[in-house]
Amino acid sequence: MTAPKPRPGILDIQAYVGGGHEAPGADRVIVLSANETPLGPSPLAVKAYESLASSLHRYPEGGSTELRDVIAERFGCAADRIVCGNGSDELISLLVRAYAGPGDEVLYSRHGFLMYPISAMSCGATPVAAPEANYTVDVDAMLAHVTSKTRMVFIANPNNPTGSYISADEIRRLHTGLPDDVLLVIDAAYAEYVTRNDYTAGGDLVEEFDNVVMTRTFSKIFGLAALRLGWAYCPTHVADVLNRVRGPFNVTAAAQAAGVAALADVAHMDTGRAHNDVWLPWLTKALSDLGLTVHPSVGNFILVRFKSKQAADDGYAALLAAGVIGRQMGGYGLPECIRITVGLEDENRIVVQALERHLENS
Ligand SMILES: *Cc1c(COP(=O)(O)O)cnc(C)c1O
Repeated sequence: MTAPKPRPGILDIQAYVGGGHEAPGADRVIVLSANETPLGPSPLAVKAYESLASSLHRYPEGGSTELRDVIAERFGCAADRIVCGNGSDELISLLVRAYAGPGDEVLYSRHGFLMYPISAMSCGATPVAAPEANYTVDVDAMLAHVTSKTRMVFIANPNNPTGSYISADEIRRLHTGLPDDVLLVIDAAYAEYVTRNDYTAGGDLVEEFDNVVMTRTFSKIFGLAALRLGWAYCPTHVADVLNRVRGPFNVTAAAQAAGVAALADVAHMDTGRAHNDVWLPWLTKALSDLGLTVHPSVGNFILVRFKSKQAADDGYAALLAAGVIGRQMGGYGLPECIRITVGLEDENRIVVQALERHLENS
């Protein structure tokens, strides 16, 4: 065999499979598979996106300067330590590529976001999963898995797919236990949905320490998943590294313009949060009342546990027959669970009706 071969580890990667968007045969398709907002993007963002149609021949402004200024003002960050990316996924993989390689370990929690091990393996680093306690990051277990080879620690807070979070005190305890040369990445993709007093997205730790990065996204509450837009808040030296390794035009002009407009539409974000505040607890209670185990979530989705993998597969099929696309969780080591995004009112009611009927008949 003389064909080109990828570097060791690449072929061990299980390619990420995104949430489905099709339910064959259903009259109405209800997509609750990817934690997208059911309310759609801000109309202001759509307008900004459309206004770019006549200048598609122009390269974007490479530094996302206006967008970073608007983010800085809105979130109380320093603009020169923000780096924008083609989705926060890009920032996650750039961080891993810059700080870890063969022989290094990248630590995450057992049911953490799959892009962490995938990014680690794609640069030859070894992903290490620390066990969780009750489907929540276990700080002691994380610290117990730090070795001399650990270069980075990822936590999603809140975590996808479990919906759980750890408090600001717990994040600080995790940080305090890490050596200064280990980079702690706090992925706060769902931060805007969280309404708990003891929660921090992590920006305060970025301000305070030289080894903490916070990543955020426009894909969730801001409804711009198609445009691929995320940002990282970093210590100066990490921002410098990301700016060296990223593509010079990694964020499209359309994404920059839509991002600026989305941030200006504060009412749209507030509506998204208020909607979730009503329907997250509603869905949690309604499915719990059916005898299913629903893990307490602070995001815009719930993890629903069935009695077995078979029961979860059957539940998934019953939803699909009703036009509802949830997300199967085998890839996360949770084959007995389905993740369901909070939808519009009638979508949520259809979810509950479909599962109620299914469970009555099984
Ligand atoms: C959805 C999600 C993201 C966002 O990824 P983008 O590339 O910005 O769309 C990041 N982290 C977690 C945990 C997520 O669930």
